[in-house]
Amino acid sequence: EPVVCLHDVRKAFNLGLANETEVLHGIDLTLERGEFCAVMGPSGSGKSTLLNIVGLLDRPTSGSLRIGGEETGALDDHALTRLRGHNIGFVFQYHNLLAGFTALENVMMPMLGDATFFNDGMAQRAAALLDSVGLSKWRDSRVTELSGGQQQRVAVARSLAMAPPLLLADEPTGNLDTKSADAVFEQLRKANREHGMAVLFVTHNPLLAARCDRIIHVVDGRLRSYA
Ligand code: ADP
Ligand code: ADP
Repeated sequence: EPVVCLHDVRKAFNLGLANETEVLHGIDLTLERGEFCAVMGPSGSGKSTLLNIVGLLDRPTSGSLRIGGEETGALDDHALTRLRGHNIGFVFQYHNLLAGFTALENVMMPMLGDATFFNDGMAQRAAALLDSVGLSKWRDSRVTELSGGQQQRVAVARSLAMAPPLLLADEPTGNLDTKSADAVFEQLRKANREHGMAVLFVTHNPLLAARCDRIIHVVDGRLRSYA
């Protein structure tokens, strides 16, 4: 069973006054377990809209979306939130860490609401994740004391907290210098290899895209794949 399967997914935004614009025009996409897939394409082509739909943050206007074999179209918002929580991790360009808290506390945050992870091992698990992104020395520092690259690595550790089978990364390296971008990419690659996590990785960087298993191009709301 693929991790993600989209069939003929369309998305239109209602701009008011009966003015509707379709920005995704029939997307077919299958992502297998463990697949690390780069998503490229010009600004405004629909990459974020696609990730928001796959991440169950927004609903398609029509078409089918299955996550881990489950057809999502008929699910209510509560069921979508549960499905998202159990299956999907997110890393965005702007990491949205909680400023008043330490690196360790930020990584523990997603585990607080989940019985599977809410236990004595929680802090240990968070510490191990920070260790895996090379930040064990900074676990008790407030995130505001860390550099941009370090903060993004905390965000990566946090996104892996729930061991999601699917990670959605929307330009996670977009505002980082080359060295930090490389480090963040390597952490995602490592988690992908070690846990078989599937990844959709939006990037404008062709060198990083070339290091993925596969590249899809979103152009004017349609997929072009050369491979
Ligand atoms: P990308 O991520 O490739 O830059 P987006 O998915 O952000 O592209 O945007 C694709 C198109 O959809 C753009 O024309 C954008 O303005 C439009 N769009 C995205 N979100 C909305 C929205 N909530 N309402 C109306 N238009 C939107
Ligand atoms: P990106 O950096 O991926 O191109 P944008 O900066 O274009 O993303 O968009 C940021 C957010 O604003 C996204 O969640 C997108 O859905 C939303 N958005 C983009 N264009 C519009 C629009 N025309 N109207 C409303 N929301 C939009």
